[in-house]
Amino acid sequence: MLQNKDTKQTPVSELGEFGLIKHLTKEFSTKNDSTIFGVGDDAAVIDAGKMYHLLSTDMLIEGVHFDLSYVPLKHLGYKAVSVNVSDICAMNGVAKQIVVSIAVSNRFNIESLNEIYRGISLACAKFGVDLVGGDTTSSVSGLAINISVLGEVKKDKVVYRKGAKEKDLLVVSGDLGSAYLGLQVLSREKKVFQANPNMQPDLQGKDYILERQLKPEARVDIIKILEKLDVLPTSMIDISDGLSSELLHICDSSNVGCNIYEDKIPIDYAAISTADELNLSPITCALNGGEDYELLFTIDQSDYDKIKSDIDFTVIGHITDKPSGSNIILNDSSSLPITAQGWNSLS
Ligand code: ADP
Ligand code: MG
Repeated sequence: MLQNKDTKQTPVSELGEFGLIKHLTKEFSTKNDSTIFGVGDDAAVIDAGKMYHLLSTDMLIEGVHFDLSYVPLKHLGYKAVSVNVSDICAMNGVAKQIVVSIAVSNRFNIESLNEIYRGISLACAKFGVDLVGGDTTSSVSGLAINISVLGEVKKDKVVYRKGAKEKDLLVVSGDLGSAYLGLQVLSREKKVFQANPNMQPDLQGKDYILERQLKPEARVDIIKILEKLDVLPTSMIDISDGLSSELLHICDSSNVGCNIYEDKIPIDYAAISTADELNLSPITCALNGGEDYELLFTIDQSDYDKIKSDIDFTVIGHITDKPSGSNIILNDSSSLPITAQGWNSLS
């Protein structure tokens, strides 16, 4: 690597993923009037005349984000699209176009690339997005997929991470922790197989959590439901790195604190029983396990009646002032500060 031997060399792990992003981008200011919001949310916001355009990108690297010994290529293609569409949902927008870049080593053949593109195609159909370009290159080892997505949102409907205010209710869609537990089961079965290749995988009763891990669905339906219910969240983020980490992003961006309640966090029965089986705490899986791709948002209290009877939503707590910090109230009424121990690919 090129470096001046007199300058200090700081390992990337010292800053962590979010610290690194801040460090690398802090000197950049925006110069175009059309750049409405740059770094620091799920997507950038760009003035496109009548609407805002939303722009986001996500990269998946073999060995870091996926293990091809148990991730089918078709699912990988689907997931790569879904996680991008999810970031557009997190801005209350609708994804429209994607560009797909792949780097492949000579280990891959046309048939395996076909499989990835079958998954991409399925996701494009499901989420109503068009594949409009990309880039194809070789890699020394392993597979990398980078997708960028362009979406749109009405100007008065864009939702940032930064809009939460005291007394707002914290709401999540769907349930949490299943994707992480799906991953734990897959890695357990991989180890069993490595020890004895004649062993059949024991995946009975695990369909739901495996699907949550292998084929996450961007919650485009939630955006439509919110519109139908006439609820405009005050802030929103998608849960890619775990509930704790995303709560801290909302609180940090909005300059507020929060209280959430252990007994309110929605966890599917299949996740609870798998957590028990693996000697894990379901609540820890929900807080710190990533990749659920649900939406976490805040609403004004006056909107509570509109969402209260919709089974897609769970109110998990509320926003407080910043000095109160971000806390989880446990079932025994004790309170613990929320810390981000979520997925961090740089640690
Ligand atoms: P998400 O988890 O929603 O995909 P990230 O945590 O990846 O969001 O990114 C947070 C913010 O930092 C986003 O605005 C993203 O565009 C920006 N960002 C991430 N990596 C870089 C980078 N290498 N250079 C510039 N901006 C970055
Ligand atoms: Mg996001």
